[in-house]
Amino acid sequence: MTYPAGRTLSELEHNLAAIQQRIDTACRRASRDPSEVRLLPVSKTVDEARLRLAYRAGCREFGENKVQEAQRKAEALADLTDLRWSVIGHLQTNKAKLVARFASEFQALDSLRVAEALERRLEIEDRALDVLVQVNTSNETSKFGLAPEDVAAFIRQLPAFSRLRVKGLMTLAIFSDDPTRVRPCFVRLRQLRDQLREQLPDGTSMDTLSMGMSGDFELAIEEGATVVRVGQAIFGPRPLPDSYYWPDADQDNG
Ligand SMILES: *Cc1c(COP(=O)(O)O)cnc(C)c1O
Repeated sequence: MTYPAGRTLSELEHNLAAIQQRIDTACRRASRDPSEVRLLPVSKTVDEARLRLAYRAGCREFGENKVQEAQRKAEALADLTDLRWSVIGHLQTNKAKLVARFASEFQALDSLRVAEALERRLEIEDRALDVLVQVNTSNETSKFGLAPEDVAAFIRQLPAFSRLRVKGLMTLAIFSDDPTRVRPCFVRLRQLRDQLREQLPDGTSMDTLSMGMSGDFELAIEEGATVVRVGQAIFGPRPLPDSYYWPDADQDNG
């Protein structure tokens, strides 16, 4: 996979327009309305100056995998008051207080301990947070996320956390260039969402399916994604290997 550079305002505008066009085309193929699909630009490793260009190019939210990096940027860009931050990577309980302070959304909820820590900190900040439950749909590539069979029982516990607004599910597909291995991960998440919808606790909704990244977002849209998390196809190739973010990524590649 090669990605275009995304350093200047015009490169960023160009990349964003190209991705929106690919989203539209994938939606048309799947008889879906493009307005159902939210593009979440993923800005990890991208510096503040380039984020300001992306803002000028129209971005009003950014996704970050690591909490401290996200918080640093949120502070540096605090003058852009309509900018929202989504934390999309695994969270340790001791970082919950940072998320509670600045994030609008947390996409990687996978334990009650983290839910408890977030709830406590959100109360202190008097804030609420949109959350997605992370599901491991690939069995092997990621040690993060709940096993699909554990999600229903987990979701039944979440109404106890009044400051967490449960919106749906998130997954990372297997790291592979082979669509016949990637697509089943997306299908699994959608089917799980459809099952869960029939037995949801009050105050929980399951509309959001966050799945698909630079290399596979069109497949994900065909299978029902409502959020695609796209980094490199907007900002250009990343210097850090994926194994920095997902402990087992590299050996499963290919
Ligand atoms: C980095 C990241 C993405 C985006 O990956 P790209 O290859 O840059 O599109 C999506 N989801 C998560 C959880 C990430 O950490």
